[in-house]
Amino acid sequence: MTRPADADARRAVPPVICYPTDTLPQADMALYTAARAKLTKTAEVTVPPRDARCFQVPAGHFFRITSVQGAQVGDLNLHNAHDLSERFYSGKTRALHGTHITTGERMWSSFPHLRPLATVTHDTLGWYGIDDFGGSVHDVIGTRCDPYTHTLLSDGGQYHHCCHSNLTRSLAAHMGLSRAEAEPLVHDVLNVFMCTGFTRDTGQYFMKASPVRPGDFIEFFAETDLLGNLSACPGGDCASGHSSDAARCHPLLVEIFAPAPGALDGWQSPAASRYDGTHGP
Ligand SMILES: [Zn+2]
Repeated sequence: MTRPADADARRAVPPVICYPTDTLPQADMALYTAARAKLTKTAEVTVPPRDARCFQVPAGHFFRITSVQGAQVGDLNLHNAHDLSERFYSGKTRALHGTHITTGERMWSSFPHLRPLATVTHDTLGWYGIDDFGGSVHDVIGTRCDPYTHTLLSDGGQYHHCCHSNLTRSLAAHMGLSRAEAEPLVHDVLNVFMCTGFTRDTGQYFMKASPVRPGDFIEFFAETDLLGNLSACPGGDCASGHSSDAARCHPLLVEIFAPAPGALDGWQSPAASRYDGTHGP
């Protein structure tokens, strides 16, 4: 290929942020901090290794995903509990908040809603930041391990406990749907506790052993009534591989908490997008 004479000048153009967040409605973290000062646990669900479970969170409650027993990555789907077609939109969340999310950042929903489904209110791995490889924790760049990509890359291999399949079985069982009905509702995930990035030389998606340890947790405020669906990834801590039974896997604990009484007086679930929906005359 021919390198243009002004190649260096073109490459030296500085980047601009696609979506500056100075006009993004901010989470009222002072309100959430006050509301989480005295939490009362109302439910818990244990997600078995290489499997998934659904859980319900009322708007205004908190939910916490905790590492128990050993380092383990989780793949999280979120839906509006009253309309499963409104679901977490990982691509737009990435465009707004970057490749990984932590305290104060939000999980945004699909079009035509585009509102926060959940806000991260505590992250015990918030200290990790971005490491020397460009890796960070809780990514919105991966998708979810799935049997189709596994089959593609393994010359027809069949594996039934990828996160995509776990989430499909779990949603079908929880909602009383067939697996064929549930599968199209499964969507790209928040990779809880997963440490990932893109290699600087080839731009490839990489993972490395999660820094999570038992007792670490990430906590969310439910902005709407939520249906959550969490898979304990067959990759375990994702130090080596996934899409097989080779890695050591552990359960994940999901706990639901009610806020301090009266702490959310005056708070309302965020409204859906105010775009008029006409797409022009
Ligand atoms: Zn997975």
